[in-house]
Amino acid sequence: MKKLEDINLEHKKVIIRVDYNVPLNENLEITDDNRIVESLKTLNYCLEHKAKVILLSHLGKVKTEEDKKKKSLRVVALRLSELLGKEVKFIPATRGKEVDDAVNNMQDSDVILLENTRFEDIDGKKESGNDPELAKYWASLGDVFINDAFGTCHRSHASNVGIASNMQEVCLGFLVRKELDNLLPIIDKPERPFTVILGGAKISDKIATVQNLIKKADYILIGGAMAYTFLKGKGIETGKSLIDEESLDFAKDVLKTTNKIILPIDHIVSTSTENSNYQIKNTLESDDIGLDIGPKTRELFKSYLLKSKTIFWNGPMGYYEKEVYQEGTKELCEFISNLDATSIVGGGDTASAIINMGFKDKFTHVSTGGGASLELLEGKGLPGINI
Ligand code: ADP
Ligand code: MG
Repeated sequence: MKKLEDINLEHKKVIIRVDYNVPLNENLEITDDNRIVESLKTLNYCLEHKAKVILLSHLGKVKTEEDKKKKSLRVVALRLSELLGKEVKFIPATRGKEVDDAVNNMQDSDVILLENTRFEDIDGKKESGNDPELAKYWASLGDVFINDAFGTCHRSHASNVGIASNMQEVCLGFLVRKELDNLLPIIDKPERPFTVILGGAKISDKIATVQNLIKKADYILIGGAMAYTFLKGKGIETGKSLIDEESLDFAKDVLKTTNKIILPIDHIVSTSTENSNYQIKNTLESDDIGLDIGPKTRELFKSYLLKSKTIFWNGPMGYYEKEVYQEGTKELCEFISNLDATSIVGGGDTASAIINMGFKDKFTHVSTGGGASLELLEGKGLPGINI
């Protein structure tokens, strides 16, 4: 594959697959624009080289017509326009005359952003299923394809792998290259001890990676909702905490084969996620929901982090959207900030939490990808990289 710097972009229509899957609040305002900011380097490079830039991205999952209202990229076009200091034309369609006309009317250094690629998932998962006709259509819009969406590199979708397989000039963008430059060294030869911290709520997506991470890491510290599936697997009461029932047997099996997994020994519990009144408990009762790691667990996790030379973290330690349940995540951030270790954080929510708490500069690298960085860590090649 060629390097971006080796491709002539002048007067060319350049399709860039970006990752604008940004968190939105209930008023549809962007709560963390890091992924947009990180895309600017490739965008500015293309604009300086007089390309016509066509942007494609997904935003969340789109399963129903109703979902579309909450998952439009219009708000992203506005933010990007502010950041770039130039007009970004939003096209509220993913194909058809509106798209064709907009592309045909582009001048050098124009930027257009098409609507959420996953709007194509409603009618038969065309984007996520890498529909050949859709991929061919999107590829037909441009002369060059740049994949700069690291967060979806572990998926073979029409908007990354599909387009790439239909185009001659294909390369990776600067954001993806920065991710690889930071992540590959810790996969090949991590300085040891190498500790992985896992948390968050996307349990079914991540739990399968645990088995592979055991081979790579020296310790795996598990907090967040993910911990409760493992604790339940050990026969411990988990009350009404978030559990991935389907992964219970898997969790049990994993625990039988390794002693590298370190689980919480106390919890911040409440009766509902809306409730700010909490208790600290060593064991949960039937009505309790575990919403953060407790103080003893924080100390236990720190004792492993203290001796680590490489740390990879994916998944918040608690229900951090509510301030009272941020403390576990915050304490680990503060602690890692002062360590002499390579520290890498990945995941949409994890990165947001860390950036909003003001710790971005304290880590060696804040990755824009969660699932993608975990799969890369397992030593797997990613389909979006091998285009
Ligand atoms: P990432 O996007 O970084 O990969 P996830 O999407 O897996 O992380 O998980 C983030 C979500 O996990 C957040 O919404 C957070 O509130 C939730 N979460 C973390 N711990 C808990 C918990 N104990 N109970 C409920 N939700 C939790
Ligand atoms: Mg998430």
